[in-house]
Amino acid sequence: MAQEASDRRIEARFRLRVGNRTLEAAVNLPAESVTVEELLPVLYAFADAYLGAVIAQAEELGQRVSCKAGCGACCAQLVPVSEAEARRLARLLHEMPEPRRSRLRDRFQHLRGKLTAAGLWERLLDTGKLADLDARRRIGMEYFLLGEPCPFLENQSCSIYPDRPMRCREYFVTSPPAHCADPRPETIRMVPLPVKFSEILYCFDDGRGLQSTRWVALSHILEASGGRREHAGPALPAVEMFRNFLVQIATPR
Ligand code: SF4
Repeated sequence: MAQEASDRRIEARFRLRVGNRTLEAAVNLPAESVTVEELLPVLYAFADAYLGAVIAQAEELGQRVSCKAGCGACCAQLVPVSEAEARRLARLLHEMPEPRRSRLRDRFQHLRGKLTAAGLWERLLDTGKLADLDARRRIGMEYFLLGEPCPFLENQSCSIYPDRPMRCREYFVTSPPAHCADPRPETIRMVPLPVKFSEILYCFDDGRGLQSTRWVALSHILEASGGRREHAGPALPAVEMFRNFLVQIATPR
């Protein structure tokens, strides 16, 4: 990773193998220390570039991504976000102008009511108890069967598209869109990703990737971040934190 400093930003250029290609990219990092939440826009831009290269390669091999603007069929799924993403999304909502903020808060309240009635709200409060994959799949299917859209979905499009969480950025389906109404392992085909940035983020609230996996359901971001407003995670020099993130890409998990 090479770097070049200007006034208050540092441009870091790097090369990364993506399948049989080399991705050459640059990110613009703050010159000072940041929290993970503050670094997220850089990590999202980096992930978009990386995932773009993965998709281009998959399409060369004949796979065609069927996701398109205006299709929000997948947006009724349980979306796990990292704690830093939960704080950022809650802050984003808090800083929205009225009446949009109240409208969104009402949607989160509505979703909470539906999840509570279905017995899912409490179970999703402590996601640490959903340690095994089967438990996560089961609750994911129960959640989806409720048919409740993400509060950020408007007119079948993501209303926070530039700020959507990592998990949503990684969702690329190649099976027919009609199957997304019934997402089961046997009906949904996805582009295989060499790395899941969302999973790195679940362990990255320390800025190093050394903590155990912790995630928050997107439906719960207001409660999760409200209870931990004082916990913004440690601040590290942005270059160091970004380097730590790159190291996690090469770390088997
Ligand atoms: S954040 Fe956006 S992309 Fe993700 S589930 Fe919600 S509406 Fe869909």
